[in-house]
Amino acid sequence: MEPKTQQKDAPAPGAREHSGPETREDAGQQPGQDAAPGPAEDPGDVAGPGPAEDDSTPVLGDVLLAVEELWPRSLAEQWDAVGPVVGRSNAPVRRILFAVDPVTEVVEEAVAWGADLLVTHHPLLLKPVNSVAASSFKGNIVHQLIESGCALVTVHTNGDSAVGGVSDVLADAFGLQHVKPLSPSVNGLPEEGIGRVGELGEATTLGTFAETVFSLMPAVAGGVKVAGNRDALVRTIAVCGGAGDSLFDAVREAQADVYVTADLRHHPASEAREAAVDGRPYLIDVSHFGSEWLWLTPAAAALENVLADQGYDVEIRVSGINTDPWDFILTPA
Ligand SMILES: [Zn+2]
Repeated sequence: MEPKTQQKDAPAPGAREHSGPETREDAGQQPGQDAAPGPAEDPGDVAGPGPAEDDSTPVLGDVLLAVEELWPRSLAEQWDAVGPVVGRSNAPVRRILFAVDPVTEVVEEAVAWGADLLVTHHPLLLKPVNSVAASSFKGNIVHQLIESGCALVTVHTNGDSAVGGVSDVLADAFGLQHVKPLSPSVNGLPEEGIGRVGELGEATTLGTFAETVFSLMPAVAGGVKVAGNRDALVRTIAVCGGAGDSLFDAVREAQADVYVTADLRHHPASEAREAAVDGRPYLIDVSHFGSEWLWLTPAAAALENVLADQGYDVEIRVSGINTDPWDFILTPA
């Protein structure tokens, strides 16, 4: 048995059609032209670098208001930790980097680029901590950010649930129609919630659909795993970016032919296959990082647009660093 190996690549995503956010969609708008944002309200910080130097540069407080408009905190799951982690609300924000994970390499990228704000999907400090001493890797990250004047903001399950959120982006990329949440939000609009389910324009085979999914995902070592008959026809597709094995009941209720999610563990996946009716739902297990990375570009563009509508001019980038933890995979010849 000769193992095949696959090297870890930078995302160079199969998601080539997801272009970067460098191009402002409403390029005709001149920052500061029809809005008079003024300095942000002082939310109570005791000291800081002072107001932004010009009217077109927002301060962190302004950006946080835009973040709240796009991804309201009320949409976050109760166990989650979203919002600002590091930063003064009156610090100017000229450059914003979006990434999935607040890991050291990403923070170094943010600092090297001169970012004033790093927005990540995953929280750095999901669980309460007693120390941010620089001797721990998380404490070191907190120090690096503060010493470099770079704020950190988390948009996690609020970014999953919102319209245009992680699963909406996946549904859109897969070409799904009549899309609705798998698990509707208790605090949000009917179209908000965790996961999405919708229909392909026409039925295709599981194998062909899986190849489409593979082509859209960033290039990661783990690739894409599929459970089910390659030639079976599928049309109703459920998706959940990130780890979605808690949603099987909703997937079955939606009568989905396929469930695309990440981090499917042995027992939930095995039991879902045992409980399958006529083989459905088939399972497609993708990279957790990859499933959420696709959201970054539209999320960055959305934030840039909200800020532009308020007359603010910021430079926004999406990190191209592959933070999927796996580096290579061995499979049977
Ligand atoms: Zn995640």
